[in-house]
Amino acid sequence: MKILTILGARPQFIKAGTVSREIAKYEDIEEVIVHTGQHYDANMSDIFFDEMKIPKPNYFLGIGGKTHGAMTGQMIEKIEEVCFKEKPDWILVYGDTNSTLAGAIVASKLHIKLAHIEAGLRSFNMQMPEETNRILTDRVSTILFCPTKSAITNLQKEGFDNFDCKIVQSGDVMQDGAMFYKNLAKKPSCSIAKNYILVTIHRAENTDNQERLTEIFEALQEIAKEKQIILPLHPRTKAMIDTLKIDTSSLTIIDPVGYLEMVWLIDNCDLVMTDSGGLQKEAFFFEKPCLTLRDETEWVELIEYGYNILVGANKEKIIKSYKEHAFNDNYNLDFYGVGKASTIIVKGLLGD
Ligand code: UDP
Repeated sequence: MKILTILGARPQFIKAGTVSREIAKYEDIEEVIVHTGQHYDANMSDIFFDEMKIPKPNYFLGIGGKTHGAMTGQMIEKIEEVCFKEKPDWILVYGDTNSTLAGAIVASKLHIKLAHIEAGLRSFNMQMPEETNRILTDRVSTILFCPTKSAITNLQKEGFDNFDCKIVQSGDVMQDGAMFYKNLAKKPSCSIAKNYILVTIHRAENTDNQERLTEIFEALQEIAKEKQIILPLHPRTKAMIDTLKIDTSSLTIIDPVGYLEMVWLIDNCDLVMTDSGGLQKEAFFFEKPCLTLRDETEWVELIEYGYNILVGANKEKIIKSYKEHAFNDNYNLDFYGVGKASTIIVKGLLGD
């Protein structure tokens, strides 16, 4: 059996690595990995792949830095060419990027079976390009591997029980990854207090909105009077802070860190504050409370059960939640599976 995996960004490679390591256990499955180049990342050198124990891509399409239409269109054309050559039995896509959608469209048009990992997630915000990508990819998938129960419910509400597809609650590949990488975690070289808060901010809804960004940083400056705040700073956020001359003098700002250092930072912090999707879940995997600097989240179970609170970008709300919110500290609930998602996924592809 031949699987063509389509990836476009570093986080997707990290997630897909868990499945690739599982596929490698089967002699009769061949995986061919295509890197679309959607997010060019200078940190994705050979060292990255070796350190993360991830197979290197077989194809690099080099399609990045374009408008959504140009990018997705060119990816469709190039992925189709790879399919003509490789003749895969399955196309495997992850998440909600333009690379995900391009892979899905090629699979659908060429009648290649499509597996969508992280299927069924919804933010219910159609302004997000990711929401379009998710919905369209799910609709043409042969098998939908859902990370959570709520993802399955979303699909059922959209009528997926009536469609010719298979829905599987696989658990979340990021849970598998967290357990795998915990043992490989590396302490970053910056000076770190015993108790600290880990913060990341990179979403356009915050970085491209002066009011939101200013309020968030005013709140962080205030909280940093009590506890060290470590902020690996995304280049987009850095550019906006410089342009708007936002005060960050009380924060420990460091360059973006490699994933193994990130895992160390999550595992050892007291609290996570973030607008990242992935980090909200990683906080839960490492049993840390999380304040989410967004107005909505795909990970609704974390909110519902009191592990995470949506604080948006309101200074007072952020500070008040930091000071007063009592989080659920029973981390025994397995919303995201038990770290066996990649096993379930590969068995699902084999039709077991
Ligand atoms: N991450 C990292 N180093 C950083 C910032 C983030 O390794 O300096 C990791 C983070 O832990 C998460 C992944 O990159 O697993 C994706 O996070 P990001 O916030 O970029 O994107 P999102 O999850 O919102 O798609």
